[in-house]
Amino acid sequence: MNRPKILILGAGYGGLTTAVNLQKKIGSNVADITIVNKNSYHYESTWLHEASAGTLSPEKVRYDIQSVLNNKVNFVQAAVESIDATNKKVITDAGEMSYDYLVVGLGFEGETFGIEGLDKFAFGISDVNEARKLRDHINSQFAEWASQAPAEKDDTLLTIVVGGAGFTGIEFLGELANRIPELCKEYDAPQEKVRVVCVEAAPTVLPMFSRELVEYAVGYLTKKGIEFSIGTPVVQATPEGVKIKKGEEEFEFIKAGTVVWAAGVRGSRIVEESDIPSKRARVAVDKDLRVPGFPEVFIVGDCAFLMNEEAGRPYPTTAQIAMQQAITVAENLIALIEGKDTKEFVPALKGTVCSLGDSDAIGEVFGKEITGKSASFMKKVIDNRALYMVGGAGLVLKKGKFNVL
Ligand code: FAD
Ligand code: NAD
Repeated sequence: MNRPKILILGAGYGGLTTAVNLQKKIGSNVADITIVNKNSYHYESTWLHEASAGTLSPEKVRYDIQSVLNNKVNFVQAAVESIDATNKKVITDAGEMSYDYLVVGLGFEGETFGIEGLDKFAFGISDVNEARKLRDHINSQFAEWASQAPAEKDDTLLTIVVGGAGFTGIEFLGELANRIPELCKEYDAPQEKVRVVCVEAAPTVLPMFSRELVEYAVGYLTKKGIEFSIGTPVVQATPEGVKIKKGEEEFEFIKAGTVVWAAGVRGSRIVEESDIPSKRARVAVDKDLRVPGFPEVFIVGDCAFLMNEEAGRPYPTTAQIAMQQAITVAENLIALIEGKDTKEFVPALKGTVCSLGDSDAIGEVFGKEITGKSASFMKKVIDNRALYMVGGAGLVLKKGKFNVL
């Protein structure tokens, strides 16, 4: 009998954790398992704010996919171009691939909600290439300012606007707050010339945290020189900066050398353009993470939409959930091959921590609110645990975070 072909798309938290769990739990020669990813490396997307601000080398946030796979899983470096679930085919830039079982883990993309100019003039924080571009752009703005004659210096080169005060925006601001003094030293720029403005549409930052935790985070960042403009959506970006809405008919233009867009994510366009039904590129999956109508297709991570019925809202798109889903997907694939029943995905939410740079954070872990160094320590434990779950102690030793202050 032919061995079933399992095809995994994407080697992010969801896809790679599925592959690693399959290779741990499936017998030899039971299935042909292939994982496809556009890069030869996996990146810790949860560390991209650090690489973007320049506080962590992009090299540190990534590792070779092959280094965590054994001979049970075949890796193909290719960009997925389309999925034809009806005919069980995937088209990649390296050719067509067929499957008996498909796992889609193509992850997230930045969402600009059609706001004029953001696609062209703002920097995102969605992958290693974007992170490098943003870091290099900020450096180049400082370098340009330094090279201008004293009487002609354009201080707006040193203004950075960050759109969105969700987790990504706040974590990036935390890193930037630590990076600015280094940049000022490197480029002989007085710190008072640098302006960092966070623009948030909603009436508060980080609405999922209590007022005390939000006040802690905003107070901490404000002390480090970050300005907040709350309840003022970005409505346009231009090469000179951003326009924000301050009232019914009231607008303000903030001139800035750098505009960062950290105001939301969506699932992969490949999913949206496929014959798998989705909304904003997220697929409403069954409880066992399969697609209704396509029982051989699983969705893992940010492309999956799953309701938290207790809370009456969808589960957030997080690495924590993507990795937990991947464990269930691997077990369900083995169950299907063995002719057994699949099981329901039950998330075990442990909490969330939002970093404020390398040595501070806020969080709620196992129902307890934490701030400061203990929260920052907890964030590093979480970061290292994600490495451990995929690559064991060896990967933690190579890439882990041990700088506890
Ligand atoms: P991803 O991790 O995005 O992986 C998708 C993979 O698919 C990537 O390897 C990509 O290269 C590949 N891919 C994409 N398109 C193609 C294609 N066409 N062809 C081939 N390969 C392709 N969550 C937390 O739980 N905790 C945190 O602390 C946290 N911090 C975050 C910080 C930042 C700055 C950001 C942006 C997000 C953070 N998140 C965090 C959210 C978390 O990163 C995502 O929920 C998680 O990455 C989703 O995992 P995934 O496997 O679905 O997708
Ligand atoms: P988000 O959707 O959580 O936050 C985006 C923010 O941008 C919101 O506060 C929103 O009001 C604001 N916004 C939207 N339109 C705007 C506009 N026009 N102008 C100004 N502000 C605007 O997105 P995110 O922060 O990128 O997070 C994405 C996902 O990744 C979430 O599920 C989050 O939980 C997860 N994440 C988790 C962590 C962590 O656990 N530490 C870190 C980063 C991201």
